[in-house]
Amino acid sequence: MRLYNTLTRSEENFAPGPDNTVRMYTCGLTVYARGHIGNFRTFICVDVLRRTLKYLLGYRVKQVMNFTDVDDRTIIGAKKAGMDLRTYTERHIADFRDDARALGLEEVEESPRATDEANLHAMADLVRLLEKNGHTYVSDGSIYFKISTMPRYGRLAHLDHEGMKPGARVDADTYAKEDARDFVLWKASKPDEPAWDLVDPPGRPGWHLECSAMALRLLGEPPIDIHAGGVDLIFPHHENEIAQSECATGKPFSRFWVHVEYLIVDEQKMSKSLGNTYTIPDVVIRGYRPSAVRYLLLSAHYRKQLNFTWASLGQAEEALRRLTDFLVRLGTVAREGASGDIAARVGQARRDFADAMQDDLNTAAALGVVFELVRSLRSAIDAGQLGTGDVPGIRQAFDEFDRVLGVFSLRLAEDDQPPVPVEEIERLIEDRQGARRRREFAAADRIRDDLAARGVLLEDGTGGTRWKRK
Ligand code: AMP
Ligand code: ZN
Repeated sequence: MRLYNTLTRSEENFAPGPDNTVRMYTCGLTVYARGHIGNFRTFICVDVLRRTLKYLLGYRVKQVMNFTDVDDRTIIGAKKAGMDLRTYTERHIADFRDDARALGLEEVEESPRATDEANLHAMADLVRLLEKNGHTYVSDGSIYFKISTMPRYGRLAHLDHEGMKPGARVDADTYAKEDARDFVLWKASKPDEPAWDLVDPPGRPGWHLECSAMALRLLGEPPIDIHAGGVDLIFPHHENEIAQSECATGKPFSRFWVHVEYLIVDEQKMSKSLGNTYTIPDVVIRGYRPSAVRYLLLSAHYRKQLNFTWASLGQAEEALRRLTDFLVRLGTVAREGASGDIAARVGQARRDFADAMQDDLNTAAALGVVFELVRSLRSAIDAGQLGTGDVPGIRQAFDEFDRVLGVFSLRLAEDDQPPVPVEEIERLIEDRQGARRRREFAAADRIRDDLAARGVLLEDGTGGTRWKRK
């Protein structure tokens, strides 16, 4: 397939090595808060890339997506919450897993936490290797990477070497391009911060070090095939990952660098620091389903900014409804027979879909192909031209589209779910019966009306109360 590589600023042919396995690393969530749908734009686009490689191209995929559970932000968050770091980050990881499931993200092969024992050891080893190779120095108890020891530093982010100040340092995990400086590998911990004595002097890993160490530990000999994340990670995070990995191993780190553009709101990046974020629970409370979020976030090309509005989420709901209505309608076709013309149209759509996805993941064009096919097949049903013999081939095509996009079956599974969890419905039925026994009829009616407003109807009969979907 053709895939845009940030390293060369061009589209290139992508294929994995001779073992047919794509080794891919994705920078995962920093777990100091629940992930927002901006974060999930990146994760969903990478999931679509993963599915394309697996299901359309038939490669094996080994993907690592980490949790950044020690950095400036998680440490501040844990301190504020009065919790130890691991316990504090644990609940954000659990939320991530819930949201990822709701959004139909395939489980990746490895999802390490930076503070896992084996990863911390890998980080310490990496620091020692960089020390040995002459790329580091210690200042005020922290170990820094000396960027002047790497002539190619700045290649990914296209840095201007003129502006770099030799010897100047930065301690923060994130900083601007204009502040390209010697960056911290291993930070001296303040007295109330977590510290590990795996390196001398003891301290904690810098954010950039974590990803290099986990990628090299879990994906084997560099270069790996693909390293992915949002565009905000190009500098400094990925630039520094390259510096650390290449200066330690003497080999290129990753063949392809894939970056997903921002989800924006009113011309600004959706981000926690700007306070313009929405999470999956925020969206669900407003009556939208996770499948619509997935659809919206994958519908635009991943290298273009996408402006989030509630209206666009409504349109995503509507588009998905049209698709799933069509799939249901397909089950009602009664006319016998099959037509060569329908099979040809379906075959052409499959090829066009595959071409679009292999053209640097052109999801917008691929969805266009799907909708054009739906339109044409709906007219065929209306005109009595489509027979039961055509249906299996059509279903096969939609299954193939869905394996790659991961959104139709997600929607159908949501449709099968009652709008209120079954345990909650049963508990409310008991509460209502209790209220009626106590002759608190207003309270009993309120329970029934609240459930009806949420899409669940109660019916009283001789055998007790039963519920059904509205
Ligand atoms: P973080 O938790 O800040 O490390 O971010 C996790 C992932 O989400 C990274 O790959 C970021 O680049 C990505 N990301 C953050 N904000 C956005 C956004 N508004 N749109 C797209 N991706 C984002
Ligand atoms: Zn990373």
